[in-house]
Amino acid sequence: MTADVVIIGAGIVGSSIAFHLTKAGCRNVLVVEREPHQGLGSTGKSMGGVRAQFATDINTRMSLYSIPFFARFEQETGHPSGYQSNGYLFVATNEKERQYLASNYERQVALGLRGAELLKPEDIVRILPQIYATDIVGGGFCQSDGFVDPYSVMRGFMARASERGAQLWRRAEVTGIQSAGGAVSGVTTTRGPVATRVVVNAAGAWAAQIAGMAGLDLPVVPLRRQLVPTEPFSELPRQLPMVIDMSNGFHFRPEGLGFLMAWNDPDETPGYKTNFDPAFVEKILTRAVRRVPCFESAEVNPRRCWAGLYEMTPDHHAILGESPDMQGLFFANGFSGHGVMHSPATGRILSELILEGESRLLDAAPLGPDRFAKGRLLEETAVL
Ligand SMILES: Cc1cc2nc3c(=O)[nH]c(=O)nc-3n(C[C@H](O)[C@H](O)[C@H](O)COP(=O)(O)OP(=O)(O)OC[C@H]3O[C@@H](n4cnc5c(N)ncnc54)[C@H](O)[C@@H]3O)c2cc1C
Repeated sequence: MTADVVIIGAGIVGSSIAFHLTKAGCRNVLVVEREPHQGLGSTGKSMGGVRAQFATDINTRMSLYSIPFFARFEQETGHPSGYQSNGYLFVATNEKERQYLASNYERQVALGLRGAELLKPEDIVRILPQIYATDIVGGGFCQSDGFVDPYSVMRGFMARASERGAQLWRRAEVTGIQSAGGAVSGVTTTRGPVATRVVVNAAGAWAAQIAGMAGLDLPVVPLRRQLVPTEPFSELPRQLPMVIDMSNGFHFRPEGLGFLMAWNDPDETPGYKTNFDPAFVEKILTRAVRRVPCFESAEVNPRRCWAGLYEMTPDHHAILGESPDMQGLFFANGFSGHGVMHSPATGRILSELILEGESRLLDAAPLGPDRFAKGRLLEETAVL
């Protein structure tokens, strides 16, 4: 078996790369997935939030391609993305947070983001009359931010890639990466060997293991993330944006007839933990009720809550590009909570890097895998 490109992992990132490669005319693409179905990694666990309101230019640029792509996803793939432009509302509770939103806003507007705005406390109360507003000093909002259905996006990318000739192997695990003279020559899988000159690591939270197969270190660690849906809840407006309480990172958005809540527990430790901890319900509801007191009467069934893995890097930015240590080994890893929203830009960038040697969409060098050895780390403080 021979392939022009082997992609390891059929989550939303591997699927987008397969889509963009086949769109650009590269047809002999093989995607290798160890699970019996797509979506059993982080993609199927995601909250589906998409936003362009970031603190670094590179993350905003990734979203400036990705969000309009979600909006026209059905034309591109024939499948729905579930994009809902409800917006993201960042709520600042002190002057430092307000200043932070103001300086981010300047950068976002300079990069061409339309629809971003700074809000006064009374604007926020107009959007969410039930919010506890005594300590609110301002906010940031962008209407084109919102949510997508990650599973549907992943399936849409892969279905279109398959129509254009890509192959998806399920229940096939990559067990080794071969090289000759410092360049990739193939992979071994539980379905047999595949000769190839290009391998893409799209293995999500397992990315470091794949890099290890090539004898390389990749600083990506798994970190559990837990989500809590409420039962149907009618005391808040249905069209709410994603609302983020900047004082502690608690955020929530409408989902079905209820709301989906998330919070980054600072006591969480790295590891492959995917069980939901029932004690988390109390922790998150305490934050929820503090900001939106009527959540006091929201019901939560712990059996409907779930957990998945973030793939964290030391600077909370993705690692995109060819390994400086092995020709033909590409990374699309370490999205640190943004892999769904940045999947369209990632697919396009990786496709261009592989086929043309450089990315025309945007200069992806700041996300290059060499930045750790060179000490060129980025700083994104708006991490959710
Ligand atoms: C609770 C939660 C909420 C989130 N919320 C958001 C959000 O609101 N917005 C956002 O943008 N992102 C969010 N994320 C992050 C996002 O889900 C991930 O960044 C994204 O799904 C990563 O996609 P992926 O394709 O790289 O990884 P995955 O979906 O994990 O796919 C990787 C695949 O690689 C396969 N694999 C691994 N090793 C091998 C091997 N050796 N051989 C073959 N296959 C292999 C796995 O089985 C898996 O299917 C959230 C994540 C979690 C857990």
